[in-house]
Amino acid sequence: MATRDDILVELGLTPSWRSRASVAASSVAVTAAASEPSTAAPPASAPAQDGEARAARIAALSWDHFAGDVDACAACGLCRTRNRSVPGVGDVNAEWLFVGEAPGADEDARGEPFVGQAGRLLDNMLAALGMARGRNVYIANVLKCRPPNNRTPEPAEAEACRPYLERQVELLRPKLIVALGKSAASLLLGTDATIASLRGRVHRYRGAPLIVTYHPAYLLRNLPDKAKAWEDMLLARRTVAALPDNRDTYTPPVAP
Ligand code: URA
Repeated sequence: MATRDDILVELGLTPSWRSRASVAASSVAVTAAASEPSTAAPPASAPAQDGEARAARIAALSWDHFAGDVDACAACGLCRTRNRSVPGVGDVNAEWLFVGEAPGADEDARGEPFVGQAGRLLDNMLAALGMARGRNVYIANVLKCRPPNNRTPEPAEAEACRPYLERQVELLRPKLIVALGKSAASLLLGTDATIASLRGRVHRYRGAPLIVTYHPAYLLRNLPDKAKAWEDMLLARRTVAALPDNRDTYTPPVAP
């Protein structure tokens, strides 16, 4: 078990960044991403009414049926190359929702988001805040299935998966959303702006405060930006602390 100092070193936050929280996290190990065959073209697009029926079904899912529905999904070609779907993990009463991009090889093998090297960094960032996955934290991705070779999600894949993330937000009604990286920020905020230009302020997703920060996998390759990500986490914590106890900042979508 790593000490708080181990975690702060891992985050590149010593000596100037010190968390007052007492923390614990699992040790770090590196797992290389496996390469996968490329995805065949998705099936011919379903008639619009099928799309509407699917959207309506997903919009009515309970937590009990959520993972099973994701697992049966064949709305894009990724269902053919995935090993396991990765619906999301955590406390279904969590105030904090973290949204990443898509499962990698480790997540595809385990069926759980952020269990590889980037996930260990995310866990360490949570630990530095005195938090942990599964305790007031829920973790999801834009895509629920792994894109081959960890390529960036295609817009059509993100759109096909969007109803699932929207349902997760609706079920969770989080006090705060943290968008980890460009895919999550773009989908949730509907912008193509850079992370650098979006971070450092509070956005809104359907009324809920949303903070944008760098993706942990990016931080592993760009160590100096870890300090900026830590600033973003502190902004997130201040934002939650400033909210009233009544968490209902979330505004459900208006029916057409
Ligand atoms: N990167 C992500 O965006 N999500 C994961 O689950 C793992 C790595």
